[in-house]
Amino acid sequence: MFSACQTAPVTGRYQLILIPESMEVEMGLTSYKETLKKAKLSEDKESVDRVRRVGERIAEVADRKDYKWEFNLIDADKVVNAFALPGGKVAVYTGILKYTEGDAGLAAVMGHEVAHALVRHGGERISAGILAQLGMIGLSTAIKNKDPVAIGAINQAYGIGVNVGVLLPFSRSQELEADRVGLVLMAKAGYDPNEAVAFWKRMMKGKDKAPPEFLSTHPATDKRIRELEQWLPEAMKYYKPSPPS
Ligand SMILES: [Zn+2]
Repeated sequence: MFSACQTAPVTGRYQLILIPESMEVEMGLTSYKETLKKAKLSEDKESVDRVRRVGERIAEVADRKDYKWEFNLIDADKVVNAFALPGGKVAVYTGILKYTEGDAGLAAVMGHEVAHALVRHGGERISAGILAQLGMIGLSTAIKNKDPVAIGAINQAYGIGVNVGVLLPFSRSQELEADRVGLVLMAKAGYDPNEAVAFWKRMMKGKDKAPPEFLSTHPATDKRIRELEQWLPEAMKYYKPSPPS
């Protein structure tokens, strides 16, 4: 039931993940269904098409044929946000489109969000929660003995994941990793990774008007932009411009 270690794609970072990926995918599905049930989907055909077109190109290079990819645009102009859940469930809020502008800007956001899912950042967060409750030795003993405390901790972490759902905040290092992996994804999908830097600069300029959700979990800072610029050469190796579809 437990797979303890794996390495992150692109960065090769060692990860400790205590829950099976199937559990993350199941949680992703539940969160997605609940979010969509409460949401109003956009009827702006041009924007919906843009989200699907960009999303499908990112999905193609994400190399997860087992994911059941789905891309939806939620009609909420005041919500500057987007998310991707394990299993390939992606949502974009119309509020972020004024910052993403064209396809490449949107690819920067979707690449970043899909990276969180691919690198299993949610699973890592949940695992950290389980560990905090039981400790490593406590955990392995409890699992061996099928201790109800272990099962309880897993259920609780699982429940936290479902409740917090799409708003589950990632750590600073996970954010940086998603930026880096996201650049590679957008480049592989045929979008110029320099457009990610341009997007973050637009977010920085606009952040004084109203603090959007995306910025509370994704601070647009000089530091973030400098780090993105540092990773551009790596991403550019994968970039082959493709004709606009
Ligand atoms: Zn993020």
